[in-house]
Amino acid sequence: MKLTKRISLIKPSPTLALEAQAKAMKKEGIDVISFSAGEPDFDTPDGIKDAAISAIRGGFTKYTASSGIIELRKAVADRLSKIHGLSYKAEDVLISCGAKHSLYNLAMALFEEGDEVIVPSPYWVTYPEQILLCGAKPVIAETSEEDDFLLRPEILEKIITKRTKGIIINTPSNPVGSAYDREHLEQIAKIAVRHKIYVISDETYEGIVYDGFRQTSIASINNDIFNLTILVNGVSKSYAMTGWRIGYAAGPSKLIEAMGNIQSQSTSNPTSIAQKAALEALSGKYEDFVRMMVERFDKRRHYIVSRLRGIPGVSCFLPIGSFYVFPNVSGILGKRFNNTVLDSSVKLAEYFLKEFNVAAVPGDAFGAPGFMRLSYATSMDNIEKGLDRLESAIKQLI
Ligand code: PMP
Repeated sequence: MKLTKRISLIKPSPTLALEAQAKAMKKEGIDVISFSAGEPDFDTPDGIKDAAISAIRGGFTKYTASSGIIELRKAVADRLSKIHGLSYKAEDVLISCGAKHSLYNLAMALFEEGDEVIVPSPYWVTYPEQILLCGAKPVIAETSEEDDFLLRPEILEKIITKRTKGIIINTPSNPVGSAYDREHLEQIAKIAVRHKIYVISDETYEGIVYDGFRQTSIASINNDIFNLTILVNGVSKSYAMTGWRIGYAAGPSKLIEAMGNIQSQSTSNPTSIAQKAALEALSGKYEDFVRMMVERFDKRRHYIVSRLRGIPGVSCFLPIGSFYVFPNVSGILGKRFNNTVLDSSVKLAEYFLKEFNVAAVPGDAFGAPGFMRLSYATSMDNIEKGLDRLESAIKQLI
């Protein structure tokens, strides 16, 4: 079968593939500890579930406006006003089937052949693939562990060309858990405004921050950058609602309308019931839940980082947000297990999974060979057990 050129450009999500492999092993009865989850291990709060049940019982089970119900679009606009002081109207907000879908609609509406889009690395696996699907070119901007994996303004300035259409800023980030403070965002905003490039601000992990970190949305810095920013978020991570598939984008009305047109000719509206659940999640009643979840993540964050730092050959950046750690394992690459030289983090991840039943995602998937991503969205028991296994696995290498 002759498939399109477009499809030959992209790869399936490696993080989802690894999670599927770990799940399949568990099904076979193997005691796998998985650090690959990209979702909170907490259940969706009951009040949110109740809102969905009421929607079903009340017959709210038909098509809705394809860009989302107006109450939810308004609730998003109100929330962005409350937390960032941003003044979006309900029409400037598009509700989609998850933030991933919001980003896809955005890429389809904004990027095409000849465009370059800057993606700081390590990056979430989906960004380069969506850009490629649109025929545009992802331009990877390197960051370093010494800079807390944040993009230096002078590097950004250097890689901008006449073709640069946009940049993706993910804060707090997946996979490293870094986050940009206001001052840093001001510098990025200045450059973006000077070169008139769009900023896609992926704030999916908003609210999951530690040590009192104050989150800023780049859109709130000044009016010029507001007009160039598309803010993307959703309810997946902050309210433990990954399966409900509700995300949103807020930005210039012309672009939001174009994204809405794409959505209307592809998926139509996000599930009516899930929209009612998201409306409840954004009602302001669940901030205690978010706080509880973040407190629990925080304890795990400290534990996992200190255990990783205790393993010879491993160093680990202390993340300030999200629920991932991103240890540098380059110090153990090149070691052997039996006759296999583990010379990449992919091989190391295979060794951990096959020999020790621990799933961790190789950094290569995020454009960062020599690193690994471990999610601590799993119980403390699992983290302890998993780290014991990783430690023994590494100690057995010669
Ligand atoms: N952005 C980032 C950085 C993510 O990690 C994810 C989920 N892994 C998403 C967007 C998409 O989230 P969802 O589609 O569930 O809203």
